[in-house]
Amino acid sequence: MPDPIIIGHTRAKELKRCPRRYWFGYEEGLSVPSRPADALAIGSLAHKCLEHVYKGLTPEWTDVEHIVHEWFNEAMKIARDSIQEREIFEAAELVLGMVRTYLRRYIAHDAEEYTVLGAEIPFQFETEDIHGNPVLFEGMLDGLFRDKNGEIWIHEIKTMSRLSGDLITALTLDDQIGMYVWAARRALGVQVAGVVYSIMRKAVPAQPERLKRGGLSKAKAQPTTYELYYRAIEEEGLDFGEYDEILEHFKADPNPFVARHIVYRSTFEERQISLQVAALASQVRTLRAMAETYGPESWYRNPTQPWDGACYCDYRSICQNDSEEARSLYESRVDHIPRDIKPNQIGEFKLSVPNGY
Ligand code: SF4
Repeated sequence: MPDPIIIGHTRAKELKRCPRRYWFGYEEGLSVPSRPADALAIGSLAHKCLEHVYKGLTPEWTDVEHIVHEWFNEAMKIARDSIQEREIFEAAELVLGMVRTYLRRYIAHDAEEYTVLGAEIPFQFETEDIHGNPVLFEGMLDGLFRDKNGEIWIHEIKTMSRLSGDLITALTLDDQIGMYVWAARRALGVQVAGVVYSIMRKAVPAQPERLKRGGLSKAKAQPTTYELYYRAIEEEGLDFGEYDEILEHFKADPNPFVARHIVYRSTFEERQISLQVAALASQVRTLRAMAETYGPESWYRNPTQPWDGACYCDYRSICQNDSEEARSLYESRVDHIPRDIKPNQIGEFKLSVPNGY
């Protein structure tokens, strides 16, 4: 039997986007040097905080702060200059603000409505490609809830720079979750009803902008909330009638910093996903075999809109000119770390609501 092809959501996404990009990242193991406080680090720190909350490990807000402080201290050790130090400081502040906003909105509700069955649950199971060759499918569920009716839901946490208006359509088609619903059944033996999406914007609510001439700015794009705006009108002793329109605007979207959507997923989709994974694994095997015979050009390019220069990609320079010099700008990626998969990932966690939330 040949070695299994490893597929996970990110690998699948990369392969669909551009086989050559997949080759740089996963076959050649090249990655762009990251900054200690880049978008990925912010997302994973926010995830880590919520993992601890959902596992009942943070009965006090200071427990959450402690996680961020630990990250801060480690990140500072690898900061290269004062600009990176500043970025790390801002990222720590941002994550604390994001998590605080999230907890205020949802954590008491979740403690009331759900039993937490797990948080950050790794999974891995064997499946097959279209020729019956082995495929190892793996990933990580952000969480698993059981509601009062006994239905089980995947909890998926996303951090985004903005909460787009067409989020619902995007979530219904979200491939990652289609894969995870399938995986929950195959790896954990759990039939899930769908997904509880928690979306955190990478921004923190601020006080409404005060104008120099007095009064408050009526700019709708300012990063504030209905609650903060209402309170500012009261504090400044302003006329509510003057601010009707802007208050209505914020009221329609009372907290544009966090959102929650519940999306049902169908079993039909599971079949589609399993076929997709089989096809992608077969493609990897075919391209590997072709590369052995015809060379690495077999991992073909799939540029998106190259005519207007929009093929933005971390590997663009090496893609245009694959030389030793170009490769020296990349680090080598330790990609596949075998996961410590325990036979039973699922338990019942007592969700603790940090004091004051
Ligand atoms: S630059 Fe474009 S074609 Fe080249 S690897 Fe990246 S996505 Fe693919």
